[in-house]
Amino acid sequence: MVTACFAASMAAAWWMPLARNIDNAAYDRWTRWSPPPEGAPQSVVVAIDEATLEARGGVPEIRPILSEALDKIAAAKPNVVAIDVILHDASRDAARDARLEASMRATPNLVLGCDLVDGKWEEPLDRFKVLSAAVGHVQQEYLEPGEDRSDGVNREIPIEEIADGKRKWAMALEAFRLARGQSIVESPDDLEIGDVRIPAGRRGGERPLLVLYRQPQVIPRVSVLDVGEHPEMIRGKVVFLGETALTAARDRLVNPYGNNVTGVEVHAHVFETLAQGKFLSRAGDSTVLAACAGLALAAGLIIWFLPGRFLPGWSGLAILPLLGFVLYIPLLAFRHGVVFPLFAPATVAFLTSAGAATYQYLFVRRQLRHSESEKSRYQQAIHWAAHEMRTPLTAIQGSSEIMSRYNLPDAKRHQLSDMINSESKRLSKIIQTFLDVERLAEGQMELKREPVDAAELVSSCMARVAPLAERKQIALTLDNPVDGVLLGDRELMEYALYNLLTNAVKYSPGGTEVHVFSGLTPSGPSHSGHDGELRLGVRDQGIGMDSKEVKQIFKKFYRTKRAEASGEVGTGIGLSIVEQIVTHHGGRIDVTSAPGKGSCFTMVLKANRAASAQDRPAASLP
Ligand code: ADP
Repeated sequence: MVTACFAASMAAAWWMPLARNIDNAAYDRWTRWSPPPEGAPQSVVVAIDEATLEARGGVPEIRPILSEALDKIAAAKPNVVAIDVILHDASRDAARDARLEASMRATPNLVLGCDLVDGKWEEPLDRFKVLSAAVGHVQQEYLEPGEDRSDGVNREIPIEEIADGKRKWAMALEAFRLARGQSIVESPDDLEIGDVRIPAGRRGGERPLLVLYRQPQVIPRVSVLDVGEHPEMIRGKVVFLGETALTAARDRLVNPYGNNVTGVEVHAHVFETLAQGKFLSRAGDSTVLAACAGLALAAGLIIWFLPGRFLPGWSGLAILPLLGFVLYIPLLAFRHGVVFPLFAPATVAFLTSAGAATYQYLFVRRQLRHSESEKSRYQQAIHWAAHEMRTPLTAIQGSSEIMSRYNLPDAKRHQLSDMINSESKRLSKIIQTFLDVERLAEGQMELKREPVDAAELVSSCMARVAPLAERKQIALTLDNPVDGVLLGDRELMEYALYNLLTNAVKYSPGGTEVHVFSGLTPSGPSHSGHDGELRLGVRDQGIGMDSKEVKQIFKKFYRTKRAEASGEVGTGIGLSIVEQIVTHHGGRIDVTSAPGKGSCFTMVLKANRAASAQDRPAASLP
């Protein structure tokens, strides 16, 4: 059950878009709950804002605006300048491009942007490109396969993008590399720039990196119009120059804090993430799988072991700490830089506990029902034993009383002490049978498997019943000589046949006849160890039963109305034990009867001729 619930949860976490939405929402929440990175920012955003566009003639004047901005920035001695404007096409006015070229030449560590349009890179004009220290891409969408970014929240950017056979690093990464004066050392799992290890492993041709956003206003921002007056903001800094005006900026995004950020600002946040050297990285699929499997196991064990021992009936509560743990651990991991999904572990914990609890409930109920029926069966067996023991006990009691009270002749004394002796033997037999039947019912009894001579069995049972029959003047006859050998437990079989005989005598009026008959039917070539069927039958001319009654008589405690009316005492248990004994020996009982006409009970058993030759020791029946 736990495995099935685990598999279902993992499948849901893998395929349901809802799972990703929940994980993303959890990511945003954790971001808000966790303090943003500290440390002084090393970058600045120089904004082509509404005021700049208004003052300089709008978007068509973007190149003169860039020239003006670069001149002012260069004068303030920045470390790196990255321009988040794609300079792919030549201006109609060649003089403008020439002026921009001149401004670029005077700018140190210049990073230009390129963009991916319809699967092709739009690179800056060559005249600009040759002046740059690097060209970085400005892509800001990293989408997991099948991810829906309808929430518009930017969490990850591709730090590397491969398209059209060309690989580009993100603009912020190029700026960082230049600022540190180091080159990029790459491996499939990370990038290294100097002593900074960036956990941006490849995922499907891209290297996503989670951005650690700063609070609004932490990264300084200055308008192109004002940048000339604030050289101290620029000196030694990494400058990101780009459009922030609503009318011009193509990319308006929201960060996990819920703040609006423009594209150029995202570059600055990515740069600060790199500069801080502290990163968030997603837990690997195998880690998540292992953690979820551990949770499923824990849920299963908690449900299995806790409630029964310490909290009967409170399995629901026992699972609460686990669910709390599942919600708290990802937050803790997040604070230590590891992003764990929420949906998969939460679903696994919830579903597996619910599944395990349901299963356990059903299991416990089944066990309860089983033990209830065991209990009533045991009680019935005790009833039977008590009832059976009463007759010999009465005989023993009576005989011993007579012996002590009266002075009896020797012959009579002998007779009585013989009686006491045989009745006490019968008592011990009853106790033995009781124990045997108990163990038989529990399925732990190893039936004896000894050869039992059918003729001996029949004659000893008939001898025991003879006095009862005589008392009622019922003629007890053996119709034909008995042949064959049975394999089984002699005492239990004796008990079965004796029971059929006493019933026949009990439920017949005086002056009638009881016949015992047998028959051996050979069955084909002897291959299975037994040589056919041995039928042992008892036929009487007694009160009989109708067919409805016949169906019930093997049930415990069932007695027919006719039997009750006959005045014969009984418990209604004997036949149920006879049936158990016979079926455990691989046989069956056939009954034919008609009310007032008499009944015929036939035990059909496996006969075994070979068994008489070799005396086999006790062994369990198959
Ligand atoms: P008990 O004899 O103690 O009542 P049994 O289990 O031996 O219990 O028999 C169950 C019932 O089956 C009897 O009460 C009786 O109604 C019916 N029955 C058994 N044997 C005979 C028979 N030979 N003739 C008629 N009814 C019988």
